[in-house]
Amino acid sequence: MDLYSGHINQLIEQFAKLPGVGNKSAQRLALHIINMPKEHVQRFAKVMLDARENIHYCKTCYTLTDNEECTICANAKRDHKTIMVVENIRDLAAYEKTGKFEGVYHVLHGAISPMLGVGPADIKLKELVMRLEGEVDEVIIATNSSLEGETTAMYISKLIKSTGVRVTRIASGVPVGGDLECIDEMTLLRALEGRTEI
Ligand code: ZN
Repeated sequence: MDLYSGHINQLIEQFAKLPGVGNKSAQRLALHIINMPKEHVQRFAKVMLDARENIHYCKTCYTLTDNEECTICANAKRDHKTIMVVENIRDLAAYEKTGKFEGVYHVLHGAISPMLGVGPADIKLKELVMRLEGEVDEVIIATNSSLEGETTAMYISKLIKSTGVRVTRIASGVPVGGDLECIDEMTLLRALEGRTEI
């Protein structure tokens, strides 16, 4: 028996495609949208479309920005010779929230995973190597401590060792498989301070 009309079913289906949204949550969200004032729904839809149309990757570090360069890369007060390599934008946000890292970032948008068929060419590695042609003192690898994160760290280390740039890995205080965004600030700072050369 179909409980809902076609339109509601379509809405539920769309929500259920979002990460972390199960069928129950999708129903709840869809019914919530139906009960919202029409203007709110219009504004919501417009904000989503505007974001999709106007946000793109920073030309330098590949985080998301409204401009050509993100506010971190465009900030002359940051240490542009120290680059922290992270897997995704959420990890960047976690480190940025500590307010203690003064360098800049490089977002890989993934990690090498032979199991999932993700190779070095599928993440922003070429772009990282290109940045090293400028003046860089240190590359801090802050990929996750999962198998994929470690594989990626080793790959990057081998890749840039020959350039003479110092390569360090954040300390293993980060729980195995732990997403950086779920880790508290103290642990992150300790991992950063305890980084070692690889
Ligand atoms: Zn940037």
